[in-house]
Amino acid sequence: MPHVVVVGGGPGGLSAALFAAKNGLETSLFDTGTTALRFAGLANYLGLGPTDGEAFLRVAREQVAAVGVDHHAERVLEVEADGEEFVVVTARGMYAADYLVLATGRSRELAAQLSCAFDDDGTVAVDRDGRTSVVDVYAVGWLTRKEKVQAVISAGDGAAAALDILSTVAGSPVHDFDTPADSPHDRPRWSFGDGRFDGSLGRPPDDSSPRNA
Ligand SMILES: Cc1cc2nc3c(=O)[nH]c(=O)nc-3n(C[C@H](O)[C@H](O)[C@H](O)COP(=O)(O)OP(=O)(O)OC[C@H]3O[C@@H](n4cnc5c(N)ncnc54)[C@H](O)[C@@H]3O)c2cc1C
Repeated sequence: MPHVVVVGGGPGGLSAALFAAKNGLETSLFDTGTTALRFAGLANYLGLGPTDGEAFLRVAREQVAAVGVDHHAERVLEVEADGEEFVVVTARGMYAADYLVLATGRSRELAAQLSCAFDDDGTVAVDRDGRTSVVDVYAVGWLTRKEKVQAVISAGDGAAAALDILSTVAGSPVHDFDTPADSPHDRPRWSFGDGRFDGSLGRPPDDSSPRNA
């Protein structure tokens, strides 16, 4: 089975990892945990009531763990192409990858190591699916935008990259559409009081709940 390595655990990387692993790809995520989202008030993520970055990250990390993402809380020091594979180097070991998703925020050194093309503003050049100039290397989120960075945009970029990898592996376009009946996981639950996300997992309120009355 193809192995996807995602570097960076902000909203971009977490979203890429979720989509890849949920749809059956062996997925590893490396993250040093310095995402700026920790400091966000996050009142602009569509579909979530006002929450905060820490709560969002806690739930997102649980979500990716639930679909089997192998999470490494460590820095990737080097990445290099090795034939059709990539070798990812950390202080603890070396890991092979068939696809790489770089979601390293403002840190561009891994993209430079791989000789990815950069735009004039210093960001990594990508197409709509996050493909870089290097085959099977994707870049998403803040790494690809100098300004106008938002969590929901990074998450969308990560989803697009993972869907492109899934489509490449399948040989035809892949969508990730669920209906309530076949959703395999517990869903984020909203508290009823002030509408803030309570960070726990469980069923969402039904239509007869006080909040929806
Ligand atoms: C104070 C503040 C408030 C904000 N408020 C909001 C808000 O309210 N709403 C909103 O939408 N956005 C907000 N943002 C912006 C938001 O934080 C970013 O848009 C978002 O975090 C970008 O996500 P990303 O996944 O692209 O990159 P990042 O979140 O930057 O994630 C990159 C991750 O990669 C990891 N990493 C980097 N290099 C390596 C490596 N070599 N090995 C392993 N891991 C690595 C880092 O540790 C980090 O965790 C705010 C930002 C700031 C600074």
